[in-house]
This record gives sequence, C-alpha cells and structure tokens, in this order.
Amino acid sequence: MLPRPNSKAVDRRERLKIPESEPPRRPPEERVADFAEPWAPIGLEWAKLAARRCIQCPSAPCVKACPLGNDIPYALWQLEHGDVVAASRLFHATSSMPGICGRICPQTELCEGACVYIKQDRVPVPIGRLEAWVTDRAAEIGSIPRSPPSRPTGRQVAVVGAGPAGITAAERLVGQGHEVSMFDAWPAAGGLLLYGIPGFKLSPDRVRERVRRIGELGIRLFPETRIGTGLTVDDLVDRGFDAVLLAIGAGIGRPLAVEGAGLGGVHQATPFLVRSHTPPELLPEGTTPLTEIGARVAVIGGGDTAMDCVRTALRLGAQEATVWYRRTEAEMPGNPRDRKLAVMEGARFEWLATPLGLEGDARGRVHSLRLVRMELGDPDASGRRSPVALPDSEFEVPVDDVILALGYLPDEGFVGRIAGLDTEPDGRIRVDPATGETSRPGIYAAGDDVLGPALVVDAVAHGIRAANAIHEFLSSGGSAANR
Ligand SMILES: Cc1cc2nc3c(=O)[nH]c(=O)nc-3n(C[C@H](O)[C@H](O)[C@H](O)COP(=O)(O)OP(=O)(O)OC[C@H]3O[C@@H](n4cnc5c(N)ncnc54)[C@H](O)[C@@H]3O)c2cc1C
Repeated sequence: MLPRPNSKAVDRRERLKIPESEPPRRPPEERVADFAEPWAPIGLEWAKLAARRCIQCPSAPCVKACPLGNDIPYALWQLEHGDVVAASRLFHATSSMPGICGRICPQTELCEGACVYIKQDRVPVPIGRLEAWVTDRAAEIGSIPRSPPSRPTGRQVAVVGAGPAGITAAERLVGQGHEVSMFDAWPAAGGLLLYGIPGFKLSPDRVRERVRRIGELGIRLFPETRIGTGLTVDDLVDRGFDAVLLAIGAGIGRPLAVEGAGLGGVHQATPFLVRSHTPPELLPEGTTPLTEIGARVAVIGGGDTAMDCVRTALRLGAQEATVWYRRTEAEMPGNPRDRKLAVMEGARFEWLATPLGLEGDARGRVHSLRLVRMELGDPDASGRRSPVALPDSEFEVPVDDVILALGYLPDEGFVGRIAGLDTEPDGRIRVDPATGETSRPGIYAAGDDVLGPALVVDAVAHGIRAANAIHEFLSSGGSAANR
C-alpha cells in the first residue's frame, strides 16, 4: 500500500483542471424496463481518472461527513495509482458493507455533498460509485479482508434482527471470539437490504452474496424466528445468552387514517416492495410475488420510500404513476438524487394535496382517491411549514392502485413487552448514546429501532458501536442474567 501523500505530491491546481464526468448510467428508457441496477459499466482507467480529481484536502470534509469516517482520500489515492485491493481494504477498515453503502448511501447529503467541488458548483468526485466499484473488483479477484479469528471466549450473544445493524454487530462479535446466534423473522438475512430496498438500487443477488459470509464466519442464523412470539428476549437470557442485541429496525408502516384505506388495491409500501423485488424463493410462505399493477397508480408520501414505490410501479407497467405530497418539493424529505431519477423514469408529482378518502367498487377494490388542496402555514415542530387545507378545494382522481409510503414506526408491540426496557415517547428504544446499552444491563440496541427510520450507513455505525460495547461488557464479566 502506498504511503499517504504529503501535500507536495499533490498538484491541486492540475487536479482541479481534470474534466469532470458523472458516473455513466443506463438510459432511463432501458432502466425502467427492468429491475437491474442503474449503472453502466466503468473500467479501471475511468475510475483512476475520477479518483485523481480528489485534491486530497488536508481537512478532508468528506471523511467528516461520512458516519463511518471512511478514509476516502487515502483510498482514492490508492485507486488513482491502480491499487484496487488497497483501496478496497481501506473502505473495509471502517465499513462492514462498503459495496452496499457505495450503492445506496445518499452521497449527495454525505461525503459527496461535502466535496470541495460542490462549493465551486461542479460535479463532486463520485465517491460512492468508486467505493462500490473497488469493493466489487476486489471481491471478484478474491480479496475480501478477513480478521484473524480470536481465541474463543465461551460467551454467547443473541442478535435479534439480521439487517445491516445486526449483521455488522454479529460479524464483529464473532471476530472478537464470542459465539453468536442471530434470529430473524424473515426467511433470509439482510433486513431491509433484501426485504425493502428495490433491486434497481441494490441487486438482491449482491445482498445474498454479502450475507453468505455470515455462515462462513460461524454465526448461527435462525430465520423465520420472530422473537417475542413464542421465544421471548427473557427466554434468550434464561437459555444462557450473556448479552442480547436488539436490531429489529422500525418496520411498521404508518397507516393512512382515512375511510377506504382497507380496500383492495391499497398497498402498504414494504409489503408492496417485498412482493415486487424479493426473489420468490425468499418470500415467506403464502406471500405471492407481484408482477403487474394497474394503469393508474397513486403513491402517497414524499420520502425515499415513496420514490422507490413510484419507480417500482413504473417497472410493473403503470401508465401513469403519481406521487401525491401534502407540502411542496422544497419541504420534501429524502434524497434529491432519487427524486431526479424518478422524474427521468416518468414519475409525476403533485404537490400540496392530501388524501381525504378512497372510494371502492362493489368488489371492494379501490377506484378513486379523494383529495384536498393544501397551502403552507406556520412552521411545525420539524421546522417545516405545515400544510393547511384550502376550503372548498376537494377533488377526486381515478386510480387502479394506491401505495402508502407515509413513513415507519418502531414495533412497540415487541419492545413494549420487554420488562424493564425504557423507550422514547415515539416507541424507539432508549439507549446510552455512547454504548447502545438499554435500561436493561446486558441488553443493547442498534439501528433503526433506536434512531427511527435512518440509513444503512447509520445502522452499520450503530452495529459497530454496540459490538464494541458488548465485547467490553462481556470481557469485564458482565452477563444479562445478573438482573
Ligand atoms: C423502502 C426503503 C428504501 C430504503 N432505501 C435506503 C437507501 O437507499 N439508502 C439507505 O442508506 N437507507 C435506505 N433505507 C433505510 C435502511 O434500509 C434502514 O435504515 C436500515 O436497513 C436499518 O437497518 P437495521 O438493521 O436497523 O434494520 P432492518 O434493516 O429493518 O432489519 C431489521 C431486521 O429485524 C427483523 N426483525 C424485526 N422484528 C423482529 C423480531 N421480533 N424477531 C426477529 N427478527 C425481527 C426484521 O425481519 C429485519 O430483518 C430504506 C428503507 C426503506 C424502507
């Protein structure tokens, strides 16, 4: 691996002159005809030149903007000199999932948003695309960094939830010599990476390839095992697990409290995405794949999930797929990049309108959506101007399917039943922010169940934090049984 460059080795003025180019994507009309990832192939020369645009800022704002503190400039330095394996190792040093984060992090809000080129109104260094590319290339040539196994400690940890937070923690704990069992309600590991995020952002094959390593590391996975129904967290402690990590996400879809929300053709976002994207053999028994949709689709909501749903509807054959949002584009949460892609693929947006009800036919299937126009009033608790209904502005639009993407809530039904576990008023698990330990000694929490709906990179960071704290707890003789 090349040493870190000193400032004399980097001619910043020359680098700033290198022509910029966005990572090539397949054309929108091709993308919308399939469920594959959007990228067109790039080669080593393209990647080296793109990496060379990094001016190796001494203050490294991109590193500061990365929740994992990835050493981006040093990895790009390796890449521009053609050492793909070294670059990949540097990304792996701080991230358990660089190939995944490189694809689906909202880089425009994180590392790339902090890149110096942004201040000059120029295209930033395509950090995400390069991170994913070097990780893939290194894996293809068989170079996935693995830590040497530690001496077995004989201590046992139960990880509840096999999403990015749980997987990251489990892998780290097993590397620290502990025995790890991981329980998940779905038939396969991956959490929302597999059962939520669409294939056109992250291919399910790539997730499967990534989670295959869980077994190779000796982690015992118990799929289709929902803790709390039958086996409880206290049962796990009574069966000898010295520590428990709760990494169950925030997977309960927020309901739409209007008449007609239970009609046929009205879908909650996650079941809709799961049925549309998950390989059929990984669906729970009795869940049927969704291969087509009606011609007129309404998506209610404005965040990233709404973008995933509208783009999925277009791929399932919708002729007219419209996102209905109660504020304006300026207040829309989520990643502007995904919004731009949705527009390119044919999605329509209707701002300042909120549903009042859904009307169905004699068979109980939705056929129209009743809405009211809104205007923006005073700011609410989130700081955004709150929408207020305009009098006498009700209207109706015909629909064939409606998808509800109104946000997610933690599973209070599960956490509320764990004795002695403190929660926040909105149902998130309350933890010590330095360790992830809950109000129950030996029980930790990480990821969306602590943060509320967040990002994969945050879940990974939480998984690392919780694993380190659990290791310390166990190394000092702690046990969840001593309560
Ligand atoms: C549609 C959608 C698109 C998204 N797109 C992006 C994106 O592009 N980029 C990004 O960074 N983030 C994205 N996110 C957010 C990201 O997926 C989450 O922040 C991340 O997956 C959280 O990880 P986690 O491990 O905390 O939880 P999850 O990934 O939700 O995993 C939790 C796991 O716990 C299991 N579980 C729950 N309850 C139990 C129980 N009682 N017993 C056993 N198992 C249980 C679940 O089955 C699940 O597998 C998206 C989210 C959604 C919904």
